[in-house]
Amino acid sequence: MGRYTAASCRQCRREGVRLFLKGDRCYTASCALTKRKTAPGMLPKFHKKPTEYAVQLREKQKVKRYYGLLERQFRKYFDIASRLKGVTGVLLLQILERRLDNILYKVGFAPSRKAARQFVGHGHTLINGKKVDIPSYLLRVGDVISLNDKGGKMALVENAITKVENRVVPIWLEADQKKKTVKILHIPEKPEMGLEIEINEPLIVELYSK
Ligand code: SF4
Repeated sequence: MGRYTAASCRQCRREGVRLFLKGDRCYTASCALTKRKTAPGMLPKFHKKPTEYAVQLREKQKVKRYYGLLERQFRKYFDIASRLKGVTGVLLLQILERRLDNILYKVGFAPSRKAARQFVGHGHTLINGKKVDIPSYLLRVGDVISLNDKGGKMALVENAITKVENRVVPIWLEADQKKKTVKILHIPEKPEMGLEIEINEPLIVELYSK
């Protein structure tokens, strides 16, 4: 686990912002970014004006890491978004937000998206009463997520729920912490997403449109 811990904080240091990859610690003074703000391997006094491409690339990397995705997955979501009617950048964020692992994290049933992915992979999640063990599953309006008996009683979930005050459950999700269910009320606009980081999604669209 230590190996992954270091890697998570390195990603935040590389992007220069908290990406909230490690659960509770991210909300405390123990956050690695409060101690070392420089990017890994970079000398603190080394500054160079970034090129337009570098700025776009960093924005994409930041968002990709925030949601815990690999390049191939992230690019696939962009391609889907670009084929839909509407503003591509916002559509991309809406797809990312609708992932099952993201929603479990957002409502406080898991301390991080990574933990949510493991939880789903172990088969503790139901959607509309049917078992789903795919963390990337995209929820639709009206869908109801619930946990199976074993999952609902797991310490990971109980602990995460007791600490959910660190996060505000976005208004597009209706969560019942006692029954451990979540209903998708609507597809969120960007201000409703409850994003913990600033995202300049047009930069990502510009990068992939080259
Ligand atoms: Fe580590 Fe802080 Fe990033 Fe959390 S927010 S992963 S503690 S650097």
